[in-house]
Amino acid sequence: MVTITKFLTEEDLKMKICDCQCEKNLKVLFKEINESELRIQPNKDIKGAYILRNENIVARCEGCKKIYFIMTTFEGGLKEQYISVDSVELFEGSMKELRKILNEMYDEYEKELINIATDDYSIKILDKFEDEEKIITRYAYLNREDTDLYEDLIN
Ligand SMILES: [Zn+2]
Repeated sequence: MVTITKFLTEEDLKMKICDCQCEKNLKVLFKEINESELRIQPNKDIKGAYILRNENIVARCEGCKKIYFIMTTFEGGLKEQYISVDSVELFEGSMKELRKILNEMYDEYEKELINIATDDYSIKILDKFEDEEKIITRYAYLNREDTDLYEDLIN
């Protein structure tokens, strides 16, 4: 299932990412998602995860504008959900450099199955596999409206 997450909060990630005092939301600028979903019968006894999702995220603290590269793993069962933040890396380049990196990463996915573009964002469905037991989806999200990221193009 393709979900669009425009912002992440401390609550979503179960941890504080930014070291500033004014951390608000993290705005998602780019995301690559690998998701496996097990098809389950509602009345069967389920053990373990039925959704497993790995995400590579590029996000900006809306408080101090620092950019972070974040990797997360999400496991969701019927009763419980776990998220772990596997790595956090501060990006120290300029917005122009970041835009170049993001566009290059996004453009590298050449054989997408579906390409959805709105004024605000683009999504590429990169892989989709489905059988009786599971659905595997891989997709990428790119923000297209961020005024800091596109500042030098707007002015
Ligand atoms: Zn911050």
